[in-house]
Amino acid sequence: MKILAACGNDCSVCPRYTSLPYEKTGEELQHTAELWMKIGYRDHVVTNDEIACSGCRPENRCRYRVIKCCAEKGIKTCAACPAYPCETMRECFAVTRSFEPKCREVCSDAEYEILKRAFFEKEQNLLIEQAISYISELFRSNAGGHDTEHTLRVRRNAMMIAETESGCDREITELAALLHDADDHKLFHTENNRNARTFLEGRIDADRIERICACINSVSFSRNRGKIPETLEGRIVQDADRLDAMGAVGIARTFAYGGEHGRPLRESVQHFHDKLLLLKDEMNTETAKQLAAKRHAFLEAFLSELDEEMIDL
Ligand SMILES: [Zn+2]
Repeated sequence: MKILAACGNDCSVCPRYTSLPYEKTGEELQHTAELWMKIGYRDHVVTNDEIACSGCRPENRCRYRVIKCCAEKGIKTCAACPAYPCETMRECFAVTRSFEPKCREVCSDAEYEILKRAFFEKEQNLLIEQAISYISELFRSNAGGHDTEHTLRVRRNAMMIAETESGCDREITELAALLHDADDHKLFHTENNRNARTFLEGRIDADRIERICACINSVSFSRNRGKIPETLEGRIVQDADRLDAMGAVGIARTFAYGGEHGRPLRESVQHFHDKLLLLKDEMNTETAKQLAAKRHAFLEAFLSELDEEMIDL
């Protein structure tokens, strides 16, 4: 999972980050120090001690005072700041972007990818943080299985699948995963993805908003029986959502939902046959198929145990 610095950098992929469990060997740190000189972040190869970083601290030197500013406001990242994006952060993003052409030129593909994820996606990372706050607020009073935790698990599943699918737009996938239940008809009476659009409008381009909404609309099980989403991002988010209806968490969610709606145990069990046991054969991606096989086996083991313990009526 990402470890966001106050400015939106992702420490989890940063080659300087050495906090547990992201320790680096002396050789790796030396390579990073050499890389830092190569891309112009330093004018000489600094020592391993100097290049190693254990994350943001208020006492660290920060050109934009981001850490101190967030600490003063009592927030973790700029994403929670009402003044975001302020002049200082606009400058910070512009300066970061100015390093990108040089990195592309002098780095290997692997080095560039690491730098991109660690530093050049600050704004996308902060946007994702804002989306998490938005859905947490939206689902504040829901506890029946369609809630913030479900959404965060779907996002985790989606990003895990996205890593193995080349050509996938990670930002579209992540935002669609986070907003996929924002207009769920079981919870909200909105039209045309109103809740998702309320968050997205003004934050990203109109054509990307349409792509995200199309992706969201291809996810629902009941509304898309037998239909395969047209886009890769749609197929990934659909798989991610369906995986969360399987395995141990799928069982827990089924009974939580049943309890919330006053359903007897037997009715919830019927849901396994109507939906959960069918999901294994409806996965789109290879990674999801593998994960689904394990979760399906757990569902079957649970049902056979339940069958032994229940009584015939
Ligand atoms: Zn869902």
